[in-house]
Amino acid sequence: MASHTREEVVNSMPRTGFFGHPKGLFTLMVTEFWERFSYYGMKAILVYYLYYSVKDGGFGLPDALAMQIVSIYGALIYMSGVIGGWLADRFIGTRKSILFGAVLIMIGHILLSLPNNFTLLLAALLFIILGTGLLKPNISTNVGELYHKNDPKVDSAFTLFVMSINLGAFISPLFVGWLQENVGFHAGFMVAAIGMFFGLVVYILRAKPTLGLSGLDIPNPVTPEEKKKTMTTVGIIIAVVAIYFIATAAMGTLSLKSFMNLVSIVGIILPFFYFITMLLSKKATSDEKARVIAYIPLFFAAVAFWSIQEQGSTVLATFADKNTQLNLHTLTNGAIDFKIPAAWFQSLNPLFIVTLAPLFAWMWVKLGRFNPPTVVKFSIALFLAAFSYLVMVYPLTHGGHLMNPIWLVLSYLLVTMAELCISPVGLSTTTKLAPQAFTSQMMSIWFLANTVAQIVNAKLVDYYDSVEKYQYFNNIGLVTLGLGVILLLVSPFMKKFMRGIH
Ligand code: GLU
Ligand code: ASP
Repeated sequence: MASHTREEVVNSMPRTGFFGHPKGLFTLMVTEFWERFSYYGMKAILVYYLYYSVKDGGFGLPDALAMQIVSIYGALIYMSGVIGGWLADRFIGTRKSILFGAVLIMIGHILLSLPNNFTLLLAALLFIILGTGLLKPNISTNVGELYHKNDPKVDSAFTLFVMSINLGAFISPLFVGWLQENVGFHAGFMVAAIGMFFGLVVYILRAKPTLGLSGLDIPNPVTPEEKKKTMTTVGIIIAVVAIYFIATAAMGTLSLKSFMNLVSIVGIILPFFYFITMLLSKKATSDEKARVIAYIPLFFAAVAFWSIQEQGSTVLATFADKNTQLNLHTLTNGAIDFKIPAAWFQSLNPLFIVTLAPLFAWMWVKLGRFNPPTVVKFSIALFLAAFSYLVMVYPLTHGGHLMNPIWLVLSYLLVTMAELCISPVGLSTTTKLAPQAFTSQMMSIWFLANTVAQIVNAKLVDYYDSVEKYQYFNNIGLVTLGLGVILLLVSPFMKKFMRGIH
């Protein structure tokens, strides 16, 4: 068990210095700002890097394959968080995980800033996946570790933390996108690497003086007996993966596609494995198990929502580049002579999050007893996500060859409003519905909803590629709308299973 009590940890650091919060919060916010700056900056141009022709600095892959790679990359980012959380919890603690993670991420971005080479690209993505898995879940855990268990400041700490995430995500596509258009892809990736470097420097300089003992203990260290069992299990997993690679290589089918299929199968099995473990476990009471069952429809709703949200950097990013009028000269009848970098659309979601989050927080409080219960908020989120696609149908069926970008802005606005209904509530409901013995596993399941969503997206892009654009947005929008209605219909039954939580 951890060798310091929460009391000792909390008292080991400067308690004030940042808007009434411990100075450590600022350290973690700045580090995460730069990490997200690098992550979303790079992601804003990744799909273009993959499908742009070699002449234009890319790899010239087919659009659908490019979008599939970005989706599977995104799925792996959240899957590796499961490993990162486990490593911190049982082997190295959060402090070291964050440090190693930041280094790996920076190496990944540096590799991307080197001249084009497909193997190098895959290696770079692997570094970023492993690094993000180590850093992302653990930096959020570390924020929690700065406070006493029931400190009311925790909520405002996380609100500030989410703001820093989205500020990073907002600013970087502006820089990276401009550089990509005006200098080249590698300059854009270099900026992402420099961003992570800044984050790393801040973390190294400020961790000791501001984070005290937090993140140094290993919360649930492996016992010697467990070590043996764990090593055997890890060994078996590595062996199975290795055999898979050797076998497919021998059959000559070891391709990116088969690897992506493997990731998809594992990514879909994983959350259900967790669900079944919890439902069969003796460590969970029958009330707790009922709550897990109530969580399953919410999980599917989260998958549907994240599917559309994450398509913002694949399908909509491609749409922005290929089917949208980005030339302001044409849009303003010659008044402004500027071409909007397509990657700039990636700044819209985080911009709307930063500006609208306070409004939503205020609105839920203001609604008082009319504040909708969790399930209804999830349904509203699905309706808004559905509308974010349905609004694209009209301009696509009534406009010219290139769509006015204002429709795309509206689409991002709607999906961000959906995010504000589902994301904060989803996180807190996950903790509330979690059986006591499985809190961290339940959090992993929440992030795995994003993984499953991106696995679904990797398949949906084939559909996007094969039908008319308006049909795609119309049909996906209608299906999502239908899912929202189903969720509303089952909500009375879910209420029973929630056993007092709402
Ligand atoms: N966009 C947020 C982030 O990067 C949240 C993503 C999620 O919860 O899946 O931290
Ligand atoms: N809204 C996302 C998150 O909260 C950021 C993004 O998609 O750009 O970090």
